[in-house]
Amino acid sequence: MKRFENKVAVITGAASGIGAATARLMAREGAHVVLADIGDEGGRSLARDLGPTALAVKCDVSKQADVDALIRAAVESHGRIDILFNNAGIGSYGTSVEMDAATWENVIAVDLHSVFYACHAAIPHMPQGSAIVNTASISGLGGDYRFAAYNAAKGAVVNYTRALAVDHARDGIRVNALCPGLVDTPITAGVHQIPGLKEDWTQRIPMQRAAEPEEMANVVAFLASDAASYVTGSIIVADGGATAHTGQPE
Ligand code: NAD
Repeated sequence: MKRFENKVAVITGAASGIGAATARLMAREGAHVVLADIGDEGGRSLARDLGPTALAVKCDVSKQADVDALIRAAVESHGRIDILFNNAGIGSYGTSVEMDAATWENVIAVDLHSVFYACHAAIPHMPQGSAIVNTASISGLGGDYRFAAYNAAKGAVVNYTRALAVDHARDGIRVNALCPGLVDTPITAGVHQIPGLKEDWTQRIPMQRAAEPEEMANVVAFLASDAASYVTGSIIVADGGATAHTGQPE
Protein backbone atom coordinates (compact mmCIF):
# COMPACT_ATOMS: atom_id res chain seq x y z
CA MET A 1 0.00 0.00 0.00
CA LYS A 2 1.41 3.39 -1.01
CA ARG A 3 1.45 6.13 1.64
CA PHE A 4 -0.89 8.47 -0.24
CA GLU A 5 -3.01 6.00 -2.22
CA ASN A 6 -6.09 7.89 -3.49
CA LYS A 7 -5.40 10.90 -1.28
CA VAL A 8 -6.20 14.30 -2.80
CA ALA A 9 -3.34 16.75 -2.28
CA VAL A 10 -3.55 20.45 -3.14
CA ILE A 11 -0.07 21.96 -3.42
CA THR A 12 0.59 25.67 -3.96
CA GLY A 13 3.81 26.91 -5.55
CA ALA A 14 3.85 23.49 -7.19
CA ALA A 15 5.68 24.36 -10.40
CA SER A 16 9.13 24.64 -8.86
CA GLY A 17 11.44 23.81 -5.97
CA ILE A 18 9.97 22.35 -2.78
CA GLY A 19 6.40 22.30 -4.17
CA ALA A 20 7.38 20.39 -7.32
CA ALA A 21 9.52 17.90 -5.37
CA THR A 22 6.62 17.28 -2.98
CA ALA A 23 4.15 16.88 -5.86
CA ARG A 24 6.43 14.29 -7.50
CA LEU A 25 6.88 12.35 -4.26
CA MET A 26 3.18 12.36 -3.35
CA ALA A 27 2.10 11.41 -6.88
CA ARG A 28 4.64 8.57 -6.88
CA GLU A 29 3.09 7.36 -3.64
CA GLY A 30 -0.45 7.34 -5.04
CA ALA A 31 -1.85 10.86 -4.50
CA HIS A 32 -4.08 12.76 -6.90
CA VAL A 33 -2.22 16.06 -6.94
CA VAL A 34 -3.72 19.47 -7.68
CA LEU A 35 -0.88 21.77 -8.68
CA ALA A 36 -1.38 25.48 -8.15
CA ASP A 37 1.06 28.08 -9.37
CA ILE A 38 1.04 31.63 -10.67
CA GLY A 39 3.12 30.53 -13.65
CA ASP A 40 1.26 29.03 -16.60
CA GLU A 41 3.48 26.38 -18.06
CA GLY A 42 5.42 24.87 -15.11
CA GLY A 43 2.37 23.40 -13.38
CA ARG A 44 0.86 22.16 -16.63
CA SER A 45 4.01 20.33 -17.77
CA LEU A 46 4.51 18.80 -14.31
CA ALA A 47 0.87 17.64 -14.33
CA ARG A 48 1.46 15.97 -17.71
CA ASP A 49 4.48 14.15 -16.21
CA LEU A 50 2.55 13.03 -13.15
CA GLY A 51 -0.26 11.28 -14.97
CA PRO A 52 -3.94 11.49 -15.76
CA THR A 53 -5.24 12.38 -12.28
CA ALA A 54 -2.85 15.31 -11.80
CA LEU A 55 -4.51 18.66 -12.32
CA ALA A 56 -2.81 22.03 -12.87
CA VAL A 57 -4.61 25.22 -11.86
CA LYS A 58 -3.23 28.68 -12.56
CA CYS A 59 -3.64 30.59 -9.33
CA ASP A 60 -2.23 33.71 -7.73
CA VAL A 61 -2.41 32.74 -4.06
CA SER A 62 -2.43 36.38 -2.99
CA LYS A 63 -5.90 36.75 -4.58
CA GLN A 64 -8.77 35.25 -2.60
CA ALA A 65 -10.91 34.74 -5.72
CA ASP A 66 -8.11 32.70 -7.34
CA VAL A 67 -7.69 30.54 -4.24
CA ASP A 68 -11.45 29.98 -3.99
CA ALA A 69 -11.43 28.85 -7.65
CA LEU A 70 -8.49 26.50 -6.94
CA ILE A 71 -10.28 24.81 -4.04
CA ARG A 72 -13.50 24.62 -6.09
CA ALA A 73 -11.59 22.93 -8.94
CA ALA A 74 -10.04 20.39 -6.54
CA VAL A 75 -13.39 19.57 -4.93
CA GLU A 76 -15.22 19.37 -8.28
CA SER A 77 -12.59 16.93 -9.57
CA HIS A 78 -12.10 14.78 -6.50
CA GLY A 79 -14.91 15.51 -4.02
CA ARG A 80 -12.64 16.34 -1.07
CA ILE A 81 -9.16 17.48 -0.02
CA ASP A 82 -7.03 15.24 2.20
CA ILE A 83 -3.79 17.22 2.12
CA LEU A 84 -3.33 20.97 1.76
CA PHE A 85 0.27 22.07 1.30
CA ASN A 86 0.43 25.87 1.55
CA ASN A 87 3.86 26.35 0.07
CA ALA A 88 3.87 29.21 -2.48
CA GLY A 89 6.05 32.06 -1.35
CA ILE A 90 8.28 34.93 -2.37
CA GLY A 91 11.27 36.55 -0.70
CA SER A 92 11.81 40.20 0.09
CA TYR A 93 14.88 42.36 0.28
CA GLY A 94 15.34 45.57 2.20
CA THR A 95 15.07 47.11 5.63
CA SER A 96 11.82 48.75 6.73
CA VAL A 97 13.20 52.11 5.56
CA GLU A 98 14.44 50.90 2.17
CA MET A 99 11.28 48.97 1.33
CA ASP A 100 8.09 50.68 0.10
CA ALA A 101 4.61 49.82 1.37
CA ALA A 102 3.60 48.08 -1.86
CA THR A 103 6.50 45.62 -1.51
CA TRP A 104 5.64 44.98 2.14
CA GLU A 105 1.96 44.39 1.30
CA ASN A 106 2.75 42.06 -1.58
CA VAL A 107 5.08 39.86 0.51
CA ILE A 108 2.52 39.65 3.33
CA ALA A 109 -0.23 38.84 0.81
CA VAL A 110 1.69 36.07 -0.99
CA ASP A 111 3.37 34.52 2.05
CA LEU A 112 0.68 34.96 4.74
CA HIS A 113 -2.77 35.98 3.46
CA SER A 114 -2.60 33.09 0.99
CA VAL A 115 -2.49 30.58 3.85
CA PHE A 116 -5.68 32.05 5.35
CA TYR A 117 -7.45 32.10 1.95
CA ALA A 118 -6.61 28.43 1.33
CA CYS A 119 -7.52 27.24 4.83
CA HIS A 120 -10.75 29.26 4.82
CA ALA A 121 -11.87 27.68 1.56
CA ALA A 122 -10.45 24.16 1.97
CA ILE A 123 -11.12 23.16 5.59
CA PRO A 124 -14.89 22.63 5.07
CA HIS A 125 -13.93 20.03 2.42
CA MET A 126 -11.31 18.23 4.52
CA PRO A 127 -12.45 14.98 6.17
CA GLN A 128 -11.29 13.58 9.53
CA GLY A 129 -7.69 12.37 9.13
CA SER A 130 -6.66 15.23 6.82
CA ALA A 131 -3.50 17.26 7.13
CA ILE A 132 -2.36 20.80 6.37
CA VAL A 133 1.33 21.64 6.03
CA ASN A 134 2.43 25.27 5.78
CA THR A 135 5.86 26.21 4.49
CA ALA A 136 7.24 28.78 6.90
CA SER A 137 11.02 29.25 7.17
CA ILE A 138 13.77 29.58 9.75
CA SER A 139 13.30 33.24 8.79
CA GLY A 140 10.03 32.96 10.72
CA LEU A 141 11.94 32.10 13.88
CA GLY A 142 14.36 35.02 14.01
CA GLY A 143 15.48 38.11 12.16
CA ASP A 144 17.69 38.24 9.06
CA TYR A 145 19.44 41.32 7.74
CA ARG A 146 17.22 43.12 5.17
CA PHE A 147 14.47 40.42 5.16
CA ALA A 148 11.97 42.40 7.26
CA ALA A 149 8.78 41.65 5.32
CA TYR A 150 9.68 38.00 4.85
CA ASN A 151 10.57 37.64 8.55
CA ALA A 152 7.21 39.19 9.48
CA ALA A 153 5.19 37.01 7.11
CA LYS A 154 6.90 33.73 7.98
CA GLY A 155 6.80 34.48 11.71
CA ALA A 156 3.06 34.94 11.36
CA VAL A 157 2.74 31.68 9.43
CA VAL A 158 4.47 29.91 12.33
CA ASN A 159 1.97 31.14 14.93
CA TYR A 160 -1.03 30.89 12.57
CA THR A 161 -0.11 27.22 12.16
CA ARG A 162 -0.49 26.74 15.92
CA ALA A 163 -3.85 28.54 15.91
CA LEU A 164 -5.10 26.38 13.03
CA ALA A 165 -3.96 23.23 14.82
CA VAL A 166 -5.83 24.19 17.99
CA ASP A 167 -9.03 25.26 16.20
CA HIS A 168 -9.26 22.18 13.98
CA ALA A 169 -7.91 19.34 16.12
CA ARG A 170 -11.49 18.26 16.90
CA ASP A 171 -12.30 18.25 13.17
CA GLY A 172 -9.58 15.60 12.81
CA ILE A 173 -7.34 17.94 10.82
CA ARG A 174 -3.67 18.13 11.78
CA VAL A 175 -1.76 21.32 10.95
CA ASN A 176 2.02 21.66 11.03
CA ALA A 177 4.66 23.97 9.60
CA LEU A 178 7.95 23.22 7.91
CA CYS A 179 10.78 25.68 8.53
CA PRO A 180 13.43 25.08 5.88
CA GLY A 181 16.86 26.58 6.08
CA LEU A 182 18.75 27.28 2.85
CA VAL A 183 17.37 25.12 0.00
CA ASP A 184 18.75 25.02 -3.52
CA THR A 185 15.77 26.34 -5.51
CA PRO A 186 15.16 29.29 -7.86
CA ILE A 187 14.00 31.47 -4.92
CA THR A 188 17.62 31.54 -3.73
CA ALA A 189 19.01 32.36 -7.20
CA GLY A 190 19.91 35.84 -5.98
CA VAL A 191 22.24 34.25 -3.43
CA HIS A 192 24.24 32.67 -6.24
CA GLN A 193 24.61 36.00 -8.06
CA ILE A 194 26.35 37.83 -5.22
CA PRO A 195 30.01 36.72 -5.31
CA GLY A 196 30.99 34.72 -2.22
CA LEU A 197 27.55 34.91 -0.56
CA LYS A 198 26.57 31.29 -1.05
CA GLU A 199 29.94 30.11 0.28
CA ASP A 200 29.68 32.46 3.27
CA TRP A 201 26.11 31.27 3.97
CA THR A 202 26.84 27.56 3.65
CA GLN A 203 29.91 27.89 5.89
CA ARG A 204 27.60 29.07 8.68
CA ILE A 205 25.47 25.93 8.33
CA PRO A 206 26.88 23.11 10.48
CA MET A 207 26.18 20.61 7.66
CA GLN A 208 28.09 22.96 5.31
CA ARG A 209 25.59 22.77 2.43
CA ALA A 210 22.18 23.87 1.23
CA ALA A 211 19.37 21.29 1.16
CA GLU A 212 17.95 19.72 -1.97
CA PRO A 213 14.19 20.31 -2.44
CA GLU A 214 13.62 16.55 -2.15
CA GLU A 215 14.94 16.68 1.42
CA MET A 216 12.14 19.13 2.26
CA ALA A 217 9.57 17.02 0.39
CA ASN A 218 10.46 14.06 2.61
CA VAL A 219 9.61 16.08 5.72
CA VAL A 220 6.36 17.40 4.22
CA ALA A 221 5.36 13.87 3.24
CA PHE A 222 5.95 12.64 6.79
CA LEU A 223 3.86 15.48 8.25
CA ALA A 224 1.07 14.83 5.73
CA SER A 225 1.08 11.07 6.28
CA ASP A 226 -0.63 8.88 8.87
CA ALA A 227 2.83 8.22 10.38
CA ALA A 228 2.46 11.70 11.93
CA SER A 229 -1.01 10.92 13.36
CA TYR A 230 -0.26 12.53 16.76
CA VAL A 231 1.75 15.46 15.40
CA THR A 232 -0.16 18.74 15.21
CA GLY A 233 0.75 22.36 15.89
CA SER A 234 4.41 21.47 15.46
CA ILE A 235 7.00 23.66 13.82
CA ILE A 236 9.50 21.34 12.19
CA VAL A 237 12.91 22.81 11.42
CA ALA A 238 14.96 21.24 8.61
CA ASP A 239 18.00 23.48 8.30
CA GLY A 240 21.20 21.42 8.47
CA GLY A 241 21.73 22.64 12.03
CA ALA A 242 21.71 26.37 11.16
CA THR A 243 19.43 27.45 14.02
CA ALA A 244 21.09 25.06 16.46
CA HIS A 245 24.28 27.12 16.23
CA THR A 246 24.72 30.12 18.56
CA GLY A 247 26.71 32.05 15.96
CA GLN A 248 29.92 31.76 17.98
CA PRO A 249 32.90 31.67 15.61
CA GLU A 250 34.74 28.34 15.28
P1 NAD B 1 10.66 28.37 -5.79
O1 NAD B 1 10.84 29.75 -6.27
O2 NAD B 1 11.38 27.25 -6.45
O3 NAD B 1 9.11 27.99 -5.76
C1 NAD B 1 8.12 28.91 -5.38
C2 NAD B 1 6.94 28.72 -6.32
O4 NAD B 1 5.88 29.58 -5.86
C3 NAD B 1 7.23 29.10 -7.77
O5 NAD B 1 6.83 28.07 -8.66
C4 NAD B 1 6.42 30.38 -7.99
O6 NAD B 1 5.95 30.54 -9.32
C5 NAD B 1 5.29 30.18 -7.00
N1 NAD B 1 4.65 31.43 -6.62
C6 NAD B 1 5.25 32.61 -6.31
N2 NAD B 1 4.31 33.54 -6.09
C7 NAD B 1 3.10 32.95 -6.26
C8 NAD B 1 1.77 33.39 -6.18
N3 NAD B 1 1.46 34.67 -5.89
N4 NAD B 1 0.77 32.50 -6.42
C9 NAD B 1 1.06 31.22 -6.74
N5 NAD B 1 2.31 30.74 -6.85
C10 NAD B 1 3.32 31.59 -6.60
O7 NAD B 1 11.06 28.42 -4.25
P2 NAD B 1 11.01 27.33 -3.08
O8 NAD B 1 12.32 27.45 -2.37
O9 NAD B 1 10.55 26.01 -3.55
O10 NAD B 1 9.92 28.01 -2.15
C11 NAD B 1 8.83 27.31 -1.62
C12 NAD B 1 8.54 27.83 -0.23
O11 NAD B 1 9.66 27.56 0.61
C13 NAD B 1 8.32 29.35 -0.15
O12 NAD B 1 7.24 29.61 0.73
C14 NAD B 1 9.61 29.85 0.46
O13 NAD B 1 9.44 31.05 1.18
C15 NAD B 1 9.97 28.70 1.36
N6 NAD B 1 11.37 28.63 1.78
C16 NAD B 1 12.36 28.48 0.88
C17 NAD B 1 13.67 28.44 1.30
C18 NAD B 1 14.84 28.26 0.35
O14 NAD B 1 15.99 28.46 0.78
N7 NAD B 1 14.60 27.89 -0.90
C19 NAD B 1 13.97 28.55 2.67
C20 NAD B 1 12.93 28.71 3.57
C21 NAD B 1 11.62 28.74 3.11
